[in-house]
Amino acid sequence: MRESIPHELEKTGELSQMKLNVLMRIIARLLGVLLIVCLIHAAVIAFPQTIFTNSVQSGAVSVYFDGDNEQAAAHIANEAEWRVRGSGYYDSTFSYKVFLIHNQFVYEYLSTILNLPGKAQGFALSLTGDAFISPSNVLALGNRTGRTPKFSIWEGDTVHTVAHELGHLIISRMLGRNRWKNLPHWKQEGLPEYVANIAAVKADSTQSLSRRYEILQDDGVWSRTAAGKQYGWDRIHYEAELLVEYLIEIRGLTMEEIASDGVTKADVLAEIAAWTKRQQNPLKGAF
Ligand SMILES: [Zn+2]
Repeated sequence: MRESIPHELEKTGELSQMKLNVLMRIIARLLGVLLIVCLIHAAVIAFPQTIFTNSVQSGAVSVYFDGDNEQAAAHIANEAEWRVRGSGYYDSTFSYKVFLIHNQFVYEYLSTILNLPGKAQGFALSLTGDAFISPSNVLALGNRTGRTPKFSIWEGDTVHTVAHELGHLIISRMLGRNRWKNLPHWKQEGLPEYVANIAAVKADSTQSLSRRYEILQDDGVWSRTAAGKQYGWDRIHYEAELLVEYLIEIRGLTMEEIASDGVTKADVLAEIAAWTKRQQNPLKGAF
C-alpha cells in the first residue's frame, strides 16, 4: 500500500493536468468566439453602409435607409441638409452619413453594442462621422407630446432629429472631439440644436427668440415630462438652444468663442432674461 501512494499521486497529477488542458482549450475557443463577435460588431459600426444598401444624397449628406420608402428618405435628406447648410457651419467638403433605421431590432442592437439607450431618437458617432436615427422612436415621441413645442426635442420630427445629429457631427469636427467631449452639457446640446433649427426658425415668423423664451418659462408646457419633473432633460435641451441662439444671433459670438470656459450658463441666462424684458418693454430705460 505504501508503495502505491506515489503512483496514485502521479495518476491524480496527470488527471489534473488533462483537466487543465481541456479547460484551457475551452477558454481559448470561447475567447476566439468572443473576438469574432467583437470584430463583427466593430465592422457593423465602422461600415454600416454594408448592411444598408439603399441610399439617397443631398449635398454632402448621404441618407442610407432600410425598407423601400425612397421618397420619404429623399425628403428627409433634402430638408435636413437645407437646415444645416442654413446655419452657416456646414462643411460641404465633408461626407456625412445618416442611417435611417426602421427595423427596431437592428436599431436596438446598434444601441446596445454602443451602450446607448435603445429608446433614444438618434445618436451620432463623431469617431466615424455617422448618425443613426430611429424614425419609429421619433414618431412615438411626437405622438406622446402632440409635437409641441416647436423646435424642441418634443417636436417628434425626423428632419429635426437628423439635423440635430448632423449638428453633433459638425460641431465635434469643428472643435475637435476632445474639446467637444469636455464642453458642459448645455453647449454640447445647444450648439447642435442651433445648427439644426436656426434656418427653420428664421423662416418661421411666429417663432421669435423672445417668444420661445416665454415658452421656456412656462411651467405648464413642461410639466408633461415622463418623469413628471418641471425641469426635465427636454426643457434643459430647449433652454440650451435658446442660450446659444442668443449668443450667436444677438451678441454676435462665434461657436469657438461660445466654447470657451469664460462663457457660463448662469451669465447667459441672466442676459437673455434681461434682453427678453427689453424686447417686451422697448421704452423701459430709454428715459
Ligand atoms: Zn444631442
